[in-house]
Order: sequence, then structure tokens, then C-alpha cells
Amino acid sequence: MAKNVLVFVEHLDGKLKKVSLEAVCQGQRVAEKIQATVTAVVIGTSETLNASLFKDLARYGADRVIAGKNPDLAESMPDALTNILCTCIADQAPALIIMGGTTRGREIASRLCTRMEAPLAMDCLDITLDGNDLVFTRPVYGGKVLSTLKFKQSPGIAVVRTGSIKLIENPKELNLTELDVEMGKTDLTFISKSVDTSKIDLTEADTVIAGGFGTGGKANALLEELANAFGGAVGASRGAVDEGWHPIAEQVGQTGKVVSPTLYVACGISGAIQHLAGMNSSRMVVAINKDPDAPIFSEADLGIVDNLFDILPILTDKIKTI
Ligand code: FAD
Repeated sequence: MAKNVLVFVEHLDGKLKKVSLEAVCQGQRVAEKIQATVTAVVIGTSETLNASLFKDLARYGADRVIAGKNPDLAESMPDALTNILCTCIADQAPALIIMGGTTRGREIASRLCTRMEAPLAMDCLDITLDGNDLVFTRPVYGGKVLSTLKFKQSPGIAVVRTGSIKLIENPKELNLTELDVEMGKTDLTFISKSVDTSKIDLTEADTVIAGGFGTGGKANALLEELANAFGGAVGASRGAVDEGWHPIAEQVGQTGKVVSPTLYVACGISGAIQHLAGMNSSRMVVAINKDPDAPIFSEADLGIVDNLFDILPILTDKIKTI
């Protein structure tokens, strides 16, 4: 069998996660280096897995798309997805398994790693080749240090950090295999889910306006307004989340989400290392803080030493007029 790189693709009710396309692009780059092909595996129901999703995967470089279908997979249970992926991996014998660094991706990667006793590289920024070995680059110590590692056995699992790979189209002819898949043994029973579709996914937003403890919980409307003016999303530091001013889903950082937007605006955030770990791969960082010595300024491309309550309305007005 020809060598292949298997990419697990995530979607929400048939809409592809951007990081999954990034994982396909990363898979394509690795495949070129090791003369392999890219197999994208997407799992769901007949209703959610649609033609435009398959076409997008081929457009971004998937040589083959495997669509695993089961009517009970409307709610993608992580243990069922792991079971299905394990079967697929046994069948495809890939050289490497890649997935996007979402909460779900991380969970499935950890489950797979235990189940397969396979090596795992979390949070990869890049995958290169050293001789015949793949080398994985990932941040450690909250992004202060970049570490590189190799796997001692194959296949290993690489989880790519959101926004670390530029999306580049690499169109392939769609080669689709649709399969009915078994869920296997699962220990979880799905009860319900609530999705706020009115909000842009924080990890996919091009602009993130984040509020910290310095907002005193009184700036949510201001943050929201600026985020809306940019067409972006609101994020928060743990300082603000712990106070109950923002939901945990908005927390950015080591124990929150990792974001890599084009623009990150930190408002009333001091810049603790655990916060920086979640946003220091943003392309441009603007910090608004009234303390000129706040550590966030050493991470910022542009710093505004002022009261956020004075600055945010001015910024919003300016952006609205552009
Ligand atoms: P503070 O550090 O209190 O900073 C508030 C800032 O607001 C100050 O710099 C102040 O000058 C400024 N300010 C006050 N008023 C105004 C105003 N009116 N206008 C402008 N500026 C103003 N933190 C995270 O964010 N994410 C994580 O995922 C995370 N994980 C953690 C994991 C562990 C194991 C640990 C130990 C900690 C973690 N933390 C995390 C917490 C982290 O260490 C910090 O405590 C937290 O980030 C501080 O939040 P903050 O910057 O909002 O608050």
C-alpha cells in the first residue's frame, strides 16, 4: 500500500472547522516530503456529511476522502469517534495521523494515543523532515521555548495548533469513499447540546477582543461592540472568567483556548505567562492597560497606556467608520 498521511477532520453539523482544513494543508506538506498521499477521514450522519464539505477537503489537498456514516453520529461522541478512527487507522496503516487542536481534537488524540500506544505531539506549529525522520516543533513553557521532537515509532499522532498553518488551496480530484461505520462500545450517553450559532467561534475568529480582570466586569458591552465592528469574537483572561464575567468558553490561555487571530486586542489583561500561552501566536497584538509596566506590553506590537473605558469607545467608533 502507498504511504499515506491520515487527517481526522472535524465539522459542526456539516460545517468544516477551519483548523481541520489547516490540518489537511499540513498533511499535504508532510505528504510531499515523504512521498505519501493525504487521506481525510470525516465522520457523521448522511445528513451532515455533504458534497460541499467533501469538495472543500479535496480543494485543500486531500487525495482521498473517507466519509464514515452512522445515523447515531449526529452527536459526535468522542469514544465512538475514537473507535471508528482506530478501525480506519488499522485499515489504512498511515505513516502519520494529524488532527486540529480543538478541544475535541485534543481529546480524541489523547484517547487514540492511549489506545494505540502511539507517540503524540500536541500543539504542533510545524512538521519538517530531518533525514527520514519527521520533526515536530511545539511551544513549551507557555510559548517561551520552542521544542523539537521525533517519534520513536510510527504511526504517531500530531495535533496542529489553530492558525499555525496558512490555508493554501491545492486542488485534487475528489476521490470519495463512503462507508457505513459501527460506533463500537461507548461509555457515554448523549443527552443534549446547546450551540450559540450567533457567535463566531473564538478559535476561528480573525479578530479577538479580550477582556481581563482590569475590566471589573463592566466592559462586556464595550468588548462586544468592538468585536462586532471587526466581525470578530470576544475572549477573556482567566482573571475575568474566574469572576464569572465571561463564560469558560471564552477563556484564552494555558487552561483555555489557543487562538492565533490576525489581531488580538488585550484589554485590562496583565499578560501572565499562562495567558500568553494561548495568544502569543496572534499576528498582531494590541494591548490596552493603564499600567505602563504590565508584562503584556512586551508581547504587544502596539501598546496603549490608558484607561480601557476611554479607549474602547473611540476604537469602536473609528472601526465603524472605516
Ligand atoms: P490581572 O493580572 O489582575 O491584570 C489586570 C490588568 O488590568 C492589570 O495589568 C491592570 O493594570 C489592568 N487594568 C486595571 N484597570 C484597568 C483599566 N481601567 N484600564 C486599563 N487597564 C486596566 N490565565 C489566563 O488568562 N488563561 C489561562 O488559561 C490561565 N491558566 C492558568 C493555569 C494555571 C495552572 C495557573 C496557575 C494560572 C493560570 N492563569 C491563566 C492565571 C494567570 O496566572 C493570571 O492570574 C491571569 O491571567 C490574570 O488575569 P488578568 O490579566 O485579567 O488579571
